[in-house]
Amino acid sequence: MASQSSATSDERSTGSVEPESAVETARRQLEHAAELVDIDPNVVERLRYPKKVHEVTVPIERDDGSVEVFTGYRAQHDSVRGPYKGGLRYHPEVTRDECVGLGMWMTWKCAVMDLPFGGAKGGIAVNPKQLSSGEKERLTRRFAQELRDVIGPTVDIPAPDMGTDPQTMAWLMDAYSMQQGETTPGVVTGKPPVVGGSEGRDGAPGRSVAIVTRDVVEYYDRDVSDTTVAIQGYGSVGANAARLLDDWGADVVAVSDVNGGIYDPDGLDTAAIPSHATEPEAVMQHDAPRTVSNEELLELDVDVLVPAAVGNVLTAENARDVRADIIVEGANGPTTSVADDILDERGIPVVPDILANAGGVTVSYFEWLQDINRRAWSLERVHEELEAEMQAAWTEVRREFDARDVSWRDAAYIVALSRVAEAHEARGLWP
Ligand code: GLU
Repeated sequence: MASQSSATSDERSTGSVEPESAVETARRQLEHAAELVDIDPNVVERLRYPKKVHEVTVPIERDDGSVEVFTGYRAQHDSVRGPYKGGLRYHPEVTRDECVGLGMWMTWKCAVMDLPFGGAKGGIAVNPKQLSSGEKERLTRRFAQELRDVIGPTVDIPAPDMGTDPQTMAWLMDAYSMQQGETTPGVVTGKPPVVGGSEGRDGAPGRSVAIVTRDVVEYYDRDVSDTTVAIQGYGSVGANAARLLDDWGADVVAVSDVNGGIYDPDGLDTAAIPSHATEPEAVMQHDAPRTVSNEELLELDVDVLVPAAVGNVLTAENARDVRADIIVEGANGPTTSVADDILDERGIPVVPDILANAGGVTVSYFEWLQDINRRAWSLERVHEELEAEMQAAWTEVRREFDARDVSWRDAAYIVALSRVAEAHEARGLWP
């Protein structure tokens, strides 16, 4: 907690708006949570660092014949509970530190869901919008080749994240399989169903956001059908959460993409707004009474705010202006530590990413099981089992929240960290 309070006062006194890196946020959250659980400080010290970080160069031939070299990473944080698991992102701002922070969150996310996985994250510092499909394919296959020795169905299992999708996973699976000499679907999740992907994996992160929104709204004695929601981001998380909440009777009054957002106090027709997967960046083309900027969307007077786009959007600069009653984190790391403190002081509950968007990795786990068993599940089964897993995790987190005077984030961390720490204590430090 010491580092958290000093960073808070530094940031406040200097008015610095320097964005916090994912690893800084993740470390502060870990240190804070570690004070609330009775675990060996040596285990906490270990968990502050990734086990391994792989950095590779990924050269590709561009369509014009020139060669360009990109940098890729895979940060493997902890594998005490099972193989490393986590997404690969293609984004210009991917850095080593970002992958480490996001990999730490994957460890907690898998643990809070009680999945038999550890945490990892990787990516390439590249703007995928500036690549043709052929260039993306060459980049992905070469990245798979560079990571071949450190990934595998029982070692480290990548999945989609920002800037990557089922097609990216199909190329990765194919490149890995061709080099191994056998089709190995379990090396990645989030593949198209035709090559061993799971039904319902695409929509799963948004589905879990919707489930958790419904649960938290009910916890505060309201009903989802009587709730107004603003959602930043209209991709795999935002669009799927918006549509499900809309189906359940909520008024989704605002949604946005990188270009800005649309607002209708009577509720938007979310099914009619094309998601990022169908037509990227099309939100603003949809008719609505008002447009809002992405910054304004975060400050709308709504019951629930779902930041489901990028990290670090709720900061020291705007946390005092948030007017939502409840925040549900759809993106990974949308709230800086300082913003978290401010929202906590203001009594605005923040349901953390590691619980809210964990549907993605949970259905990844279902996909991995289906790949091992060579047997596909129906969409109904995926939905039922996801609902059950989310309820189990929600119940555990709620129990900690009710039993102690802590935030929702702390409650989720207590559940996750206790499981990881117990596994470390049982296994011991060796060699
Ligand atoms: N990238 C997703 C996440 O941040 C999914 C990871 C996975 O399925 O392994 O949770």
